[in-house]
Amino acid sequence: MPRCKNCKEKFEPVRFNQKFCLNPECVKVWVSEAKDQSWKKTKKKMQSEIETVQELMKAAQIVFNKHIRIRDKDRPCVSCGSKLGDKYDAGHYFSSGGHKAVTFDEDNVHGQCVACNQWKHGNLINYQLGIQERIGADRLLQLHEKANETRKYTREELRELIAFYKEKIKKM
Ligand SMILES: [Zn+2]
Ligand SMILES: [Zn+2]
Repeated sequence: MPRCKNCKEKFEPVRFNQKFCLNPECVKVWVSEAKDQSWKKTKKKMQSEIETVQELMKAAQIVFNKHIRIRDKDRPCVSCGSKLGDKYDAGHYFSSGGHKAVTFDEDNVHGQCVACNQWKHGNLINYQLGIQERIGADRLLQLHEKANETRKYTREELRELIAFYKEKIKKM
């Protein structure tokens, strides 16, 4: 006969793998432990889903940025006007970290030389002039409005976005 996990007395189990006897005190402990375990499971599941959104976000940015680099391959750097050459970046006007609503907005991301994007922190003053020339003042204003909206992506949306841009890249 097993011993109760709470009172340590021997008892006759009525269920398979029963760890507690049926004394009211012991049942109380049993119930609270079971609740705790199911919460731990839920928490673990939630964490793994959060990780997946972050992973998908990264994967989506890689595909989206690749599409921007192909789109802009024959254009000069958006902020300094120099020829892009072999190695260049997809430069965000509104940084992707703090502006999720425009992370995947084609108006917000343009081919940019490495010097401007990585060494001059985006060369933002000249970026504003360059982007206005490309998309026009109206769309730039819309972009500014959209940039500060709160936006969260679901895993489903991100998967769709990845598939969409992969398909688009194939046709470019
Ligand atoms: Zn007991
Ligand atoms: Zn540049």
